[in-house]
Amino acid sequence: MRFIRTDPVPGPPKSQREFLDNTRDPQVLTSHIVGDKPEVRDRPYGLMYLSQIDSVCPREYVIGNLQQGTKREVVSFPLRVIFNMGSALHSWVQNHPEVYFGVKNVLGFWHCMACQRTRRFGVKPFDSCEFCGASYQASVYKEYALRLPDKGISGKTDLILKVGSKYRFAEMKFMAKDIESPIGSDVVQLSSYMYFSKFDPDGLPIDIDRSIGYLVYVSKMFNFRAPIKTFKVEPTERLMNPIIEKSRQFVVGMATSVLPEPKAACVRKNFYFAKNKTCPMLDPCKAHFLEGKNKYEKN
Ligand SMILES: [Zn+2]
Repeated sequence: MRFIRTDPVPGPPKSQREFLDNTRDPQVLTSHIVGDKPEVRDRPYGLMYLSQIDSVCPREYVIGNLQQGTKREVVSFPLRVIFNMGSALHSWVQNHPEVYFGVKNVLGFWHCMACQRTRRFGVKPFDSCEFCGASYQASVYKEYALRLPDKGISGKTDLILKVGSKYRFAEMKFMAKDIESPIGSDVVQLSSYMYFSKFDPDGLPIDIDRSIGYLVYVSKMFNFRAPIKTFKVEPTERLMNPIIEKSRQFVVGMATSVLPEPKAACVRKNFYFAKNKTCPMLDPCKAHFLEGKNKYEKN
């Protein structure tokens, strides 16, 4: 009887191991040890993400949902590295509110990793979980998730900050370069959280001051003068109207199959885009437009 596994451990064949042990090429080592393949994900369309709402095309989303299409996202290895760093930094600040904002000024839902239950809304807990008794160190920040099918949107806010006596939304952006003013699409994203959250009255147990929000840009480069810049965002009607219109077109489209108009840029370019910038719904979008159909028809 054999108790000890004697068959060879699966792994690279000997010649490949020898090759790896003899190389000093950083690129070769990376591709063999880290794995630098692009990540491919096929996601169903669903609701429009507020994090991309400035550039989202409601026509693409209506067609995508009606034909139950998926949106293929190919994230290259270099981009994944950058995205992961962004997620790690967000998580670090959310779970260590003392680092920048003060423990008493960051609010959110706190989720217990030990029992997988959401403990409570408020500032970071320093007591054991009321459900399972696990240490507070098992509690992690859970972002406020806004999901409004009747508005066609979903999103998650980075932070809820207490500023004076008000509670306000804040978005953090980690930047590789210095900026002098907030980025337009970020202003639209934050303004949209502020605007749409009023349609989610049971979503938060506190009153959010929707007149002001903050974009907090953190520099990833060393910067003596201004490592962090905070911009005040006050949503205006002019800013929000096109977004409200996208939301309306999506909802109407889903209910009646009436397609929103294609983007002017798509018509102007005759639906031709550079190879790395194609729309997954390009073919049905273009076909409906050229045939003059304003209602979605599955072919
Ligand atoms: Zn627990």
